[in-house]
Amino acid sequence: MGSALAVDGGPAPRHRLFYGGAWRAPETEAAIEVRSPATLELLASVPMASAADVDAAVGAARAALAGWSALDSAERARHLRAFADLIGARIDELAALESAVTGRPIREMRAQMGRIPEWLDYFAAIAMGLEAEANSVKGGLVTVTRYEAMGVCALLTPWNHPVLILVKKLAAALAAGNCCVVKPSELAPVSPLLLAEWAAEAGLPDGVVNVVTGAGETGALLCDHPQVVRIDLTGGTETGRKVAARAGQRLVPCTLELGGKTPVLVFADTPLEEAAAGAAFAAFIAAGQTCVSGTRFLVERSLYEPFVAAFAERARAIRLGDPADPETEMGPVISAASRDRCLQAMEEARAAGARCAAGGGSPTLAPPFDRGHFVEPTVFAEVSPDMALFREELFGPVVSVTPFEDEAQAVALANDSAYALGAALWTRDVTRALRVGNRLRAGVLWVNDHHKNDPRAIWGGFGDSGFGKENGWDALKSYLNKRSMTLRSNPAFDDWFGGGQRYG
Ligand code: NDP
Repeated sequence: MGSALAVDGGPAPRHRLFYGGAWRAPETEAAIEVRSPATLELLASVPMASAADVDAAVGAARAALAGWSALDSAERARHLRAFADLIGARIDELAALESAVTGRPIREMRAQMGRIPEWLDYFAAIAMGLEAEANSVKGGLVTVTRYEAMGVCALLTPWNHPVLILVKKLAAALAAGNCCVVKPSELAPVSPLLLAEWAAEAGLPDGVVNVVTGAGETGALLCDHPQVVRIDLTGGTETGRKVAARAGQRLVPCTLELGGKTPVLVFADTPLEEAAAGAAFAAFIAAGQTCVSGTRFLVERSLYEPFVAAFAERARAIRLGDPADPETEMGPVISAASRDRCLQAMEEARAAGARCAAGGGSPTLAPPFDRGHFVEPTVFAEVSPDMALFREELFGPVVSVTPFEDEAQAVALANDSAYALGAALWTRDVTRALRVGNRLRAGVLWVNDHHKNDPRAIWGGFGDSGFGKENGWDALKSYLNKRSMTLRSNPAFDDWFGGGQRYG
């Protein structure tokens, strides 16, 4: 679990809260156990922060705000790059921790952690290009647009990519001059605590990055805190509705990165093995537990049967087991509830008439992994749009394949969802890619690929998938207040009644 985490020593460290640049004892003894989803071994425990703890963390952020927001953006950029470099030097430690807590295979986590510094470097760089803008407008007027830090931001993060999602938000918020209080998921709270300690070690001023651990109620306390002026959530759609309602009560702006039910359209001109390999990557990385995991495969009729066979073969070949083993290709799902939801969905799909082409249950593994929450990579064919498997976000390695006859039907099937986050389409025909891609209702679209995520490419959905964007200039600007100031250069004052053209 990494020595830096052994805050109170012992084989399963009992952590404290991290705010104001130091580890802090929580107000009460209430704690949350963090267990390996692969073996159920106790890995650590973290405090269940109380209202007083949340208040203290927000107070620490508030105290740091004047100094941090007043820094020149180049100075803040230097801090963020130092943080990025420190993370970059500790990728192996971070990957091992992420893998142990989330159950994702170490090979996936190493690759993901290796890219984390990019977000800090990117936002450090673009924030230097965003100071103020001046524009001449009609009638000799000049308008100056100023960008200013908002204040204390609440970052509510999920368990599935605890570090990646946190750093995406943190990099944009900090580069803009804000201070943050993070509430990570109770299922994966350890790496966010560690990152807060590393931020302080890298030289970020005390109170710029603070973490309070706890459950949903802790997140709610943070959302309701009167000094929190901006909320950013990645989580489930139902959580999004609750957080938006709280934000609405106080008229606090929020970004909501919520769930999805990503369609993958496969046209018959795609080489079969490429389509099957792409499908396995889309569906089964992270055991299907990403918001954009390919879950609804829509395949042109002439390729349908060969595709189902090739995809099923790849699913059966995936090596499940110890997430720490570099050979392992798929770990467990995060919890018993998550595994049971997958098994229940399989039962319902069978009862509804779908055909199980691969997987379909829990694998038999040797101890200690026989206790883990493992689910077989599962492919169901003959899934129709009225089935729950086609409609509901499952967040596990259980996917559906449905045939389509033509482009119009493919688009209609893909868009037949309340979610609108990710989508992918596979074709060799670039004109079709543009034609079909433009008609897909999704905030993030890949052509002949999947899962690619880059700080320069905006990320976020519509509808039940939420609103607002991560990545790119959009994310940076969403963490800034914008103000315009208009100056008159014309010596002749033109009053309201005389100069109508300036007001229209
Ligand atoms: P949850 O919605 O359960 O939790 C997200 C965060 O919100 C957690 O920190 C949680 O705390 C907190 N929370 C829960 N209830 C409240 C509340 N009432 N007020 C304030 N905070 C609250 O999501 P999961 O952790 O289960 O993550 C999986 C979900 O996230 C999936 O639906 C997935 O699609 C979505 N997701 C979306 C992404 C995107 O980019 N759009 C990316 C990754 C995931 P706690 O867990 O401790 O209760």
